[in-house]
Amino acid sequence: MSAESLKCASCGAEHELGLVYFCRKCQGTLDVSYDHGGVSFARMLAAAEAGIWKYRDVLPVGPDAEPVTMREGDTPLLSAKRLGEVLGVPRLYLKNETVNPTLSFKDRPLSVALTKAREFGTERIVVASTGNTAVSASAYSARAGMSCCVYVPAGTPREKTALIALCGAEVRAVPGTFSDAYETALRDVQDNGAFNVTSTFLNPYACEGDKTVSYEIFRDLGDVPDWIVVPVGAGPLLVYAYKGFVELKQAGLIDRLPRMVAVQAEGCSPIARAYGEGQAEVKPWLEPRTIATGVADPLATYPRDGTRTLAVVRRSNGYALSVGEQDILAYVRLLAEREAILAEPAAALSVAAVDRMARMGLLEPSHRVVSIITGHGLKDVEALLSPADAQEAE
Ligand SMILES: *Cc1c(COP(=O)(O)O)cnc(C)c1O
Ligand SMILES: [Zn+2]
Repeated sequence: MSAESLKCASCGAEHELGLVYFCRKCQGTLDVSYDHGGVSFARMLAAAEAGIWKYRDVLPVGPDAEPVTMREGDTPLLSAKRLGEVLGVPRLYLKNETVNPTLSFKDRPLSVALTKAREFGTERIVVASTGNTAVSASAYSARAGMSCCVYVPAGTPREKTALIALCGAEVRAVPGTFSDAYETALRDVQDNGAFNVTSTFLNPYACEGDKTVSYEIFRDLGDVPDWIVVPVGAGPLLVYAYKGFVELKQAGLIDRLPRMVAVQAEGCSPIARAYGEGQAEVKPWLEPRTIATGVADPLATYPRDGTRTLAVVRRSNGYALSVGEQDILAYVRLLAEREAILAEPAAALSVAAVDRMARMGLLEPSHRVVSIITGHGLKDVEALLSPADAQEAE
């Protein structure tokens, strides 16, 4: 195993690889650090094995770990000629994460998390989620034969809560926002040995699963894209997709890094706001109201998570922006019309961002742009019906 320790993302203090979520010195979030000596990225990239587990040498599990897997990953990187045409971006690619086993990229981190839970000998999984992490957590818990308790904010799409319940997990709706669910999950696991797989940067093992998306993009494109566009809540997908490219660079396979774009919905956009105002630190968002429920994270008690994402956006010479609530569904439609991918509102944000950036002149014709389509539209059917459609359907 090449994973060595957990390192605090704020102060650098090292901790043993255990069931810890926060730095004991400064309460910062943790990150798995590795010794990559002896690891061959070239060999892993060439492996015939399907899915994320061909990269197990750079995932934080032991050599004998038996993956809890549903063959997540190896999703298509599609050249989006017809969408690129209308947006004026000739070299646009879509990383279609909607075809993962539970229809979102969250299957990557949750496959790693449940594998780790098995290694730790935990029997119970706890998660706070805006929906997709909870669907994945309940599915992978069912596969692993573990019990799972899910805290979701009231107002989570019923397609998601139905899937969670069908997989045998306990669903507890928490009044308020995702941040209230987050606090409830923290209290639940205190001293009872359950594994908290909440998205955000809380679970460093789960986050590592997100890196695999960048290995796939590199392998399928044969190069480093100029831009990677990611819808973000707290932002682990963006931060760990970047970490994946940093690892490829350290291994000598690439000599530059992609510019990372964070996109949020106007009704809950703490990271985009801080970027626009030139702030170094992200502040909580007070009253989240957005159709993009998948990324509706106000960061109420952990704004440092947003600050971590903002720092990577800046370090990569990237960009952050928000999209008007009234515009989001138009991008869901455009993506379906032009490329036949049905995205949930949060996922369509990465198409909206490309449009905005192209109009602003930030994208050159030679630039290769990869938009990550993070989650499937069928997980939030109600949102996809405009008020007019909804009336027709009644
Ligand atoms: C979770 C999620 C994201 C990104 O979330 P982060 O937790 O910030 O990485 C984006 N889109 C969808 C559909 C999601 O479920
Ligand atoms: Zn620390």
